[in-house]
Amino acid sequence: MQETVLTFVDVAKSYGDVRALHSLSVAVQRDEIVALLGPNGAGKTTALEIALGLRAADGGRVRLFGGSPQSAATRRRLGATPQETGFPDMLRVEEIAAFVAEHYPSHAPIGATLERFGLAELAKRRAQTLSGGESRRLALALAFIGDPEFVVLDEPTTGLDVESRRRLWEVVRNLGSRRSILFTTHYLEEAEALATRILVLDRGQLLFDGAPRTLRGLIGGRRLSYVGADGPVSVTTQDADAYIRAMVNGAVVFSDLEIVRPSLEEAFLTLTGGSQ
Ligand code: ATP
Repeated sequence: MQETVLTFVDVAKSYGDVRALHSLSVAVQRDEIVALLGPNGAGKTTALEIALGLRAADGGRVRLFGGSPQSAATRRRLGATPQETGFPDMLRVEEIAAFVAEHYPSHAPIGATLERFGLAELAKRRAQTLSGGESRRLALALAFIGDPEFVVLDEPTTGLDVESRRRLWEVVRNLGSRRSILFTTHYLEEAEALATRILVLDRGQLLFDGAPRTLRGLIGGRRLSYVGADGPVSVTTQDADAYIRAMVNGAVVFSDLEIVRPSLEEAFLTLTGGSQ
């Protein structure tokens, strides 16, 4: 039987005149890895903060493990990485990890967790000496240190270089096999690499909820542009290879051919029907 970890029913949140979430209804099941994608200001962080019990919704119902996200018992089953990370400067990496681990009934082994996140050599370093990328890795390690059933990550790999990002995907994927994860990202590639399910939020509303492959099918075309016999041509196709083969076989006159993968922003425009 599927166990529901998080439920939002008609959740709404405004900041003054800004409606950050409109009537958002969605549920996360046990063992799902869910990516929350969306342009800047879509309401992703607001949704996570409400799920984490850090912010109250104005309307609707939120349930975490069937209880209130604000209850201490519920929060002990949860691990999270905030978008902005500040650590006590004078504490060492291993001390911070031990401090966070103590809040959980049965935490993961501290040394092994630091090792997984490439922090073993930094265990004795004071937090203030960590680079941006190292701090980010520590924040991620802390989200998992309590061995929680549900992990919530706000932009887990922002600010990391491509190689660190890929290495972390591998670590998070391995850690995700025994728990549920909900994360926000600006990278479609990250959502595809990690998630079993993708949610696309735009201006506080859910535009898409489905498998990564389905989203790719909707937005995964390529834009081709070239100068043809009658001037510039621009087309979007799901299969650029087949399109070009057909042009060559059909002896279509072309020059300056360019093939572009639409950006995530363009993909959002496709999903919103260009209403932005
Ligand atoms: P980003 O990708 O830029 O992090 P996001 O999808 O996480 O964006 P939110 O941070 O949830 O979006 O913001 C949603 C909307 O609510 C935005 O218009 C933002 O300006 C507004 N907002 C967020 N926090 C506050 C606040 N504390 N006071 C006023 N407005 C806020």
